[in-house]
Amino acid sequence: MSNPLVKCTVDQCTHYMPGDQCMAAKITVYNDEMKGTSSKAQDTLCKAFHHRKTMGDMVGALHNANIGGSVSAAFLEGTQITPAVECFVNNCKHWQNGNYCNAQNIHVTGSNASKTADTDCETFESEK
Ligand code: SF4
Ligand code: SF4
Repeated sequence: MSNPLVKCTVDQCTHYMPGDQCMAAKITVYNDEMKGTSSKAQDTLCKAFHHRKTMGDMVGALHNANIGGSVSAAFLEGTQITPAVECFVNNCKHWQNGNYCNAQNIHVTGSNASKTADTDCETFESEK
């Protein structure tokens, strides 16, 4: 199994931390709803996105917070915190059986995002 280092610039998300880090324990990347497959980065989304302004979403965000030993260990070691990545965009060339992503790094974007569909995995590259 492989796991990319996640850089995220979606500062509207409750999981976002300055330094473009993602504090979620796990993120899941999907194709946008209504699209069976993705042909460009804008067709993908980060399902773990939780908008900062929605109180109800805070519960979900806290539930998915990366507050276990791995975070404190990462702080102590000075290494970057990064979530586990599961991905269902199976026509991306970085996608691997088991819903893994074999890219070294991924970049999640979405300026002024207010819903999951506003976020994208910029690292998506179509297989074709
Ligand atoms: S949009 Fe996704 S990758 Fe970015 S901080 Fe939120 S959960 Fe993490
Ligand atoms: S680079 Fe491709 S396989 Fe990796 S998370 Fe993004 S869309 Fe999924």
